[in-house]
Amino acid sequence: MIKFLDLQKINLVHQQEIEDRLIKTFRSGWYLLGNEVNIFEENLSKYIGAKHAIGVANGLDALRLILRAYIEMGFMKKGDEIIVPANTYIASVLAISDNGLIPILVEPNEKSLNIDISKIEESITEKTKGIMIVHLYGRVIFSKELKFIAEKYNLKIIEDNAQAIGASWEGLNTGNLGDAAGFSFYPGKNLGALGDAGAVTCNDDELANTIRSIANYGSNQKYVNIYQGLNSRLDEIQAAILDVKLKHIDVENKRRKEIAKKYSLEIKNPNIILPEIPENEEESVWHLFVIRLFNREKLQNYLTENGIQTLIHYPIPPHKQKAYKEMNDLSFPITEKIHKEVLSLPISPVMTDDEVSKVIYTINNFDF
Ligand SMILES: *Cc1c(COP(=O)(O)O)cnc(C)c1O
Repeated sequence: MIKFLDLQKINLVHQQEIEDRLIKTFRSGWYLLGNEVNIFEENLSKYIGAKHAIGVANGLDALRLILRAYIEMGFMKKGDEIIVPANTYIASVLAISDNGLIPILVEPNEKSLNIDISKIEESITEKTKGIMIVHLYGRVIFSKELKFIAEKYNLKIIEDNAQAIGASWEGLNTGNLGDAAGFSFYPGKNLGALGDAGAVTCNDDELANTIRSIANYGSNQKYVNIYQGLNSRLDEIQAAILDVKLKHIDVENKRRKEIAKKYSLEIKNPNIILPEIPENEEESVWHLFVIRLFNREKLQNYLTENGIQTLIHYPIPPHKQKAYKEMNDLSFPITEKIHKEVLSLPISPVMTDDEVSKVIYTINNFDF
């Protein structure tokens, strides 16, 4: 069977290096906020090009902490509005509402499936304090126009970079395009830990210090608490694993790009909409390869019968979730249409050429 994502195979590529670091961490006797986290933070900040990288417990916390810090710093207050794409993964929206901020959903562009920047300005009110951009499926969303809008209305740009580590825009890495960025190292992400893990990157000293304190019970000095904080730390063990895997991320993303290119050139079916390939290769790291078609259930069943596992990212948009009753009556036609049509094909750095060819061949023989 061709698995959607073979995590075991992905991690076994680095078995020796990971085991060596795990043993070292195990034997060190120090398991939280120590050397491994310091080293990984330093290497991550260098890789991204941002002044600060702060390891945290997971990707949702990374985004929550950024917004919470802006509240503590007085840039935002409860009831303020944050713009976010309507078709994002729910975690982006949860990070906003969990802080008592109001998510303002904006439709995506039908081609890129990322937020439609031309629709942002009409959603801005006096209460708008930030724009959370999401580099969905690994594809960068950024532009001079976006920067101009943020400056004009004095808004913070927060990047949800959970799916796009290693992507870049005009020479700048995602995670260094806006004011602050949240990363997820959930095992299935392009840079995945062996459990939960996340990080924040930014260039602002005050923001970084505030996030560090909030993530550590609101304390920047033992037993002195300046905020009503949380416990959201990156484990030493996860940091050690991530530090090993970070060295290989570019090679792994390159393989994803090769597979995406092959899919794009060779899947030939007039009923399937293939994902847009950005003009500059650096602008996507292909976390997911998402096709669109009107009868996806039929194709998905057919692929399953032929030993090819696919997934749907995502079946229900945030505004249609029970969790957001207050938004259930809102209408986002593009978002709703996308959620009915998307299907994610297997893509990963460990997929073989034969497996890729089999996916292409099988899809091309599908009878609509
Ligand atoms: C995975 C993901 C998150 C949340 O990350 P966790 O580490 O699972 O908390 C947030 N936003 C997006 C777009 C994601 O894909």
